[in-house]
Amino acid sequence: MKYKEYFGEFGGRYVAEVLRPSLNALEKEFLNISKDENFWTEFEKLSEDFTGRPTPFLFAENSTKKIGGAAIYIKLEGLANTGAHKINNALGQALLAKRMGKKRIIAETGAGQHGVATAAVCAKLGLSCTIYMGEVDIKRQRPNLFLMELYGAEVVPVSFGSRTLKDAVNAALMDWAGSFEDTHYLIGSALGPSPYPGMVKIFQSVIGKEVESKINELELNVEAMIACVGGGSNAIGFFSPFLEKDNPRLIGVEAGGTGMGEGEHASRMTGQGQKGIIQGYKSLFLTNKDGQVLPTHSISAGLDYPGIGPELAHYGETGRIEYTSAADSEAIEALKFFAENEGILFALESAHAGAKAIQLAADMPKDKAVIINMSGRGDKDIFITAKLLTPDKWIDFMRNEVSEYEK
Ligand SMILES: *Cc1c(COP(=O)(O)O)cnc(C)c1O
Repeated sequence: MKYKEYFGEFGGRYVAEVLRPSLNALEKEFLNISKDENFWTEFEKLSEDFTGRPTPFLFAENSTKKIGGAAIYIKLEGLANTGAHKINNALGQALLAKRMGKKRIIAETGAGQHGVATAAVCAKLGLSCTIYMGEVDIKRQRPNLFLMELYGAEVVPVSFGSRTLKDAVNAALMDWAGSFEDTHYLIGSALGPSPYPGMVKIFQSVIGKEVESKINELELNVEAMIACVGGGSNAIGFFSPFLEKDNPRLIGVEAGGTGMGEGEHASRMTGQGQKGIIQGYKSLFLTNKDGQVLPTHSISAGLDYPGIGPELAHYGETGRIEYTSAADSEAIEALKFFAENEGILFALESAHAGAKAIQLAADMPKDKAVIINMSGRGDKDIFITAKLLTPDKWIDFMRNEVSEYEK
């Protein structure tokens, strides 16, 4: 797999002068390790022993029978350490940073999943770790903040702008502009200025490679592969071995939220994304006519980003990747469906892919297969799902917890 800087017209490295030397050095070292067997041996060893790879590949037999169409398979990426695919990239970049002699890692986080994965990897590799997180996100995602601190990271609240993910990225970039001698900025998705999108894809391609070998072993006749798309790292890794082939169909599912009005969704590839250069790369973004970033919404914190990784935007334009969206309500239904029928709890993000897979499989012949990438597991979402599905009981529980504490 070759690392690239541009994907059609998308990608590139549109950054201030102060950041160029560090991005150049990072690219150079990444190209070095690309050919270095020792690096990949270490990456694979830790992927096995620490992350828990390979992650399982499950035939969703009960669901398949119930739906009555194509066979449904699920790549259980959510069984990786820390609960999602994010750790593949965090581990790869942290090992690379160590090679470069860096002592400190900084990262942005929105929902906190990338922060948790990064903090855990830094604990394992003995690196100091600072995570930037918007104040609004801290309020919404307190449990993840607790976990990051438990792994020994320092979490710095970001109090400017909308106090969410994009402001956390800006805070991390400002830190890095003055600290890159000893610090690596560990970006959490397949976006940002080059070399990040191409590099993150390569670290995440472990997902696609494992799936490809299962397809061959089981001799599956795969019609479609389906992944949710936030920034795009789980999707690009899962799709990676198949991008240059004509089959199977590759389907990206974005957050349809509560509707297609402004601020109600995060669907960039189904008609509303505008070309722009934001946070160092050219891609499609949800912006107003003045180029200002619009607010987004999704029930899943990991899909509500206004931009999309440049390679995913490119393959959307060429038609190789098809895009669709799933509403909040469809994601919740899919989450319940797979919990009840398979004993598998999808993360809310991944449930968007699950929802579309259920719909597509129903119309496909039985000798075909569809594969869902379950990018994460749903334990992290319990504060959202329990409140939504059993509000009275959950609020009772919370009230009780507080009164116990105040005794
Ligand atoms: C962060 C996250 C996503 C979205 O990020 P991508 O870069 O698009 O993969 C999806 N699923 C889970 C479980 C996540 O934590």
